[in-house]
Amino acid sequence: MDLIDLSVTLEFTESEPAPVEIDYVDHARGADILGRPAGIDRRAFPDGLGLSLEYVRLTSHSGTHVDAPAHYGPLCEGRRARTIEELPLEWFFGPGVVLDCVGGVEDGPVTRAELEAQLGRIGYTLAPLDIVLLRTGADRLWGSGRYFTDFRGVSREATSWLVEQGIKVIGVDSFGFDPPFARMLEDYQRTGDARTLWPAHVYGREREYCQIERLANLGAVPVTHGFQVACFPVKLRRAGAGWSRVVAMVPS
Ligand SMILES: [Zn+2]
Repeated sequence: MDLIDLSVTLEFTESEPAPVEIDYVDHARGADILGRPAGIDRRAFPDGLGLSLEYVRLTSHSGTHVDAPAHYGPLCEGRRARTIEELPLEWFFGPGVVLDCVGGVEDGPVTRAELEAQLGRIGYTLAPLDIVLLRTGADRLWGSGRYFTDFRGVSREATSWLVEQGIKVIGVDSFGFDPPFARMLEDYQRTGDARTLWPAHVYGREREYCQIERLANLGAVPVTHGFQVACFPVKLRRAGAGWSRVVAMVPS
C-alpha cells in the first residue's frame, strides 16, 4: 500500500491571511524551563540540553483542516450544529474518489454538471460515506499570496447534490470551499443578493456535511477511486474546525 500525503504544512506563508506563528523553544531554553521548579538550569542537563518545544498561534482553519457543521451556523437540520469533536469517526475514514475539476477563478465554482460528467468518465457511482476529493489544481499556488485570491470554489448546487447522495465529507485543494472572498463580496455589492455570500458553507445549515479545505497533491493519487482516505480532525473543544493530516491509502 502506498501512503500519499494530501496535506499542506502548517507554516508561516503569504497564503494564510491569518498568519501562523510558531515560536521555537530550543533544547537549551527547554532545559531552563524544565529545571526551574528544582532551581536548576541548562548547566545541569546532559550536554546542557533539555527538550525542545513550540508555542503556536493559528486559527482552527489554518492549513489543511476539516470544517464542522458548527462553522456554517449555530443550527443544522433544525438542531444545534455539531462541533468538530462531536462528529463520528466513521465519516473520516473511507473510500475516496478524486474528481478532476482543474481550473482557475475565471472558470467559476465547480458545478454539479462537471461532477456528473467526471463520474461518468471514470465509470464510478457514488456510495454513502465516500470521501469526495475535488482537484482544482489551486494547490500549485501554495506559498504565494495568490493562493488566497485565485481559485474556483465549489457551488452550492454541486455541494447539495453530493450531500443528498449520503456524502458527508467533501474535500477541495484550494484556500476555501466557496469562491475567493473578494469575488463574493463584489458579487454582493453588485446584486445585493445575500445568496452570493458563502453559498456552499451556508448550505451546511440545511444538511450536515464536512468540507476539507487546503488539500494538496491530489494529482499524486494514481487512481480516481479504489483507494481509502483518512482525514481525522483534531479534537478541539466546541470548535468549528480541526486540522487534519489527510492521507490517501492506495493499494500497490
Ligand atoms: Zn475552513
